[in-house]
Amino acid sequence: MVFPVSSYRGRLAPSPTGHLHLGHARTFWVAAERARAAGGVLVLRNEDLDAVRFRLDFVDAMLEDLRWLGFTWQEGPDVGGPCAPYNQSARRSHYRAALGQLHAAGLIFPCTHSRRDVLEAIGAPHEGAGTDDEPVYPREFRPPAGAPLPPLGEKITVNWRLRVPDGGEIAFTDGRFGEQRAVVGRDFGDFLVWRKDDVPSYQLACAVDDAAMGITEVVRGADLIKSTFRQLLIYRALRATAPAFYHCPLMTDVSGQRLAKRHDALSLRTLRAQGVTPSDILAKFQAETC
Ligand code: GLU
Repeated sequence: MVFPVSSYRGRLAPSPTGHLHLGHARTFWVAAERARAAGGVLVLRNEDLDAVRFRLDFVDAMLEDLRWLGFTWQEGPDVGGPCAPYNQSARRSHYRAALGQLHAAGLIFPCTHSRRDVLEAIGAPHEGAGTDDEPVYPREFRPPAGAPLPPLGEKITVNWRLRVPDGGEIAFTDGRFGEQRAVVGRDFGDFLVWRKDDVPSYQLACAVDDAAMGITEVVRGADLIKSTFRQLLIYRALRATAPAFYHCPLMTDVSGQRLAKRHDALSLRTLRAQGVTPSDILAKFQAETC
């Protein structure tokens, strides 16, 4: 057994909703290199909360692709570890406890407005126009501050949102991109922490897990910078220590479009079938400065 020589704890947190592509591999490579350089531990967390898009065969494919590329992790669903379980689907009690804490502190509220109501209220043209981010929740939809909250109940059938502070900036220093700032209420509003189909939101699950697993630095794609601001508010609300953040530039295809799981041509599976080797891929990453 190799003992870590530092307290650095990094993580890879893939979602099994499709095959991993070159963009994921590059972000994971940066995460693995930073953990290695720091003499720390790398944790693999399987983010399998999205029951609609999640597929069991993608979990196996994901682990196999990562191993094929030569990644190793010291803790994870396949190897265990002190923070087990490492499958988010088995960590529900952690998320419920956090939700209970937010509820007891009066920091969340139930929301019965649909996404369509929200888009109409803010005058957004139509669903999905221009952004894949959650629309800014209108303040007039909020219940008054201090209004008594209904109990959470055993099974949740309504969306619950975090009440973000009124105005003000939230900032952090990103390890790759430097100083990052967002204006609360303008760049994002009261956001989902639990969905009415009784599933915790990505924001809540991710912050709760990174805190519970003692992650000291989160390395992930730059598309998640906006999520980082939200997660910082969750850490604050839960009185947990936030990790450091390092966001990686996103990889684009030849037309400048961000790589997504639908880009099957650049999936690791396809490249492998074409005879591309792990060392070809890693040599390409090493040659780039990212
Ligand atoms: N599971 C998320 C994804 O695959 C990444 C979450 C994170 O790194 O915070 O997009």
